[in-house]
Amino acid sequence: MSRRRTPTLPTAALCAALLAVPACQHAPPARGFTIRYEEPAPADAADAALLRTRKPAERAVTALNAYLDLPKPVTVLARSCAGEGTGYDPDTRRIELCYDDVAQERELLTDEAAVADVVTETVHHEAGHALVDALDLPFPSARAEEDAADRFAALMLIREGPDGERALRTAAEEYLLTAAAGPEDDPEHAPPAERAATHLCLLSEASPTRHPDLAPRAHTCTPDWPTTRDTWTHDLAPLLR
Ligand SMILES: [Zn+2]
Repeated sequence: MSRRRTPTLPTAALCAALLAVPACQHAPPARGFTIRYEEPAPADAADAALLRTRKPAERAVTALNAYLDLPKPVTVLARSCAGEGTGYDPDTRRIELCYDDVAQERELLTDEAAVADVVTETVHHEAGHALVDALDLPFPSARAEEDAADRFAALMLIREGPDGERALRTAAEEYLLTAAAGPEDDPEHAPPAERAATHLCLLSEASPTRHPDLAPRAHTCTPDWPTTRDTWTHDLAPLLR
């Protein structure tokens, strides 16, 4: 998801006016992806604890900063969103990662490691939106940008090797469980079964020997894995380390 909001006063301006504010004494770095946690609402405490313990957002941020040198700061802000939904906000360059969304994942996937894998995939998807924003990449529609953000998440997890591939499979399973739970009112994204199919076919084309059970899905991706990889790599060229 990607959000648009009314602009807020930049932190730097606030800090200039309020030098005693603790946040101003720990200014975020001027470039790259960082993570910050807000105190959770009481109902979200267990979900916040999962993020702190399993560190799925740190896993994504570390991979992103190792791959890319983004000249602007993007903050992954873990917070209680009261149902607003995880998303990237271009006005603040924040990826708001909602504790209450983690609760939904925990209902679908009882295993905490699987929940963490899905959160890592989500942060990579939102990072895809942040990069579309930073590079001003043109897309003909919101849906086309969403599809590209999904493919960016797949690219980042496939780059990670076997652990990332496991996370991509888990994310696909979660989409299939979502699809089985019934239709959703979500015109922005591809239907969850389609998102699962895209992840699995890219995985089967990128890493056929580790996923022989996915072989029937190979050569079915549109665009295919080499095109997906090369398109994103070309777009990211100014940022690649
Ligand atoms: Zn999105």
